[in-house]
Amino acid sequence: MTEELIKELIDGNKKYISNMKNEIVKYVSVQKPQIAILTCSDSRVIPEFIFNKSIGELFVVRVAGNVALGETVIKSLEYAVNHLKVKILIILGHTCCGAIKAAEESEKSCCGEILGEIQKSFSNGENHSLCNLSRQLKMLPKRSELINKKMKEGKVKLIGAIYNMESGKVEFL
Ligand SMILES: [Zn+2]
Repeated sequence: MTEELIKELIDGNKKYISNMKNEIVKYVSVQKPQIAILTCSDSRVIPEFIFNKSIGELFVVRVAGNVALGETVIKSLEYAVNHLKVKILIILGHTCCGAIKAAEESEKSCCGEILGEIQKSFSNGENHSLCNLSRQLKMLPKRSELINKKMKEGKVKLIGAIYNMESGKVEFL
């Protein structure tokens, strides 16, 4: 079973190389994405597909529940803002999010860091995808002095958006 899966990946990678040859070569030594996206790890939320973008165009950080939490996530986003100098930073939430569902269902006492973070947003309304997104938009500049500074200087704009799983449509806040 696992061998079949790996073979699928190898075959897929061959197709990728033959389809993307020129682009791969073009970006060998440089990347200049203008957009960074923090989104969920959900296999159905694929920023490059959703926005019809390709290699080198999006700097993407994915974590369950698209939480702007923890050094790994924050430092990755800071890299995009400070070194790559992305112009916009999008936090992309989505409907039917498993992490949000898990946070709704679990007891506070047995929650990990991510679910606890998501739960903190629930008191702000009924639409929990939106509540979580709003919280992450608020918390990111609080958790990153650098991003906060760059936002104030007008170097980067922080934007929230929700991907609708049913229609494929993204609504920008
Ligand atoms: Zn999700």
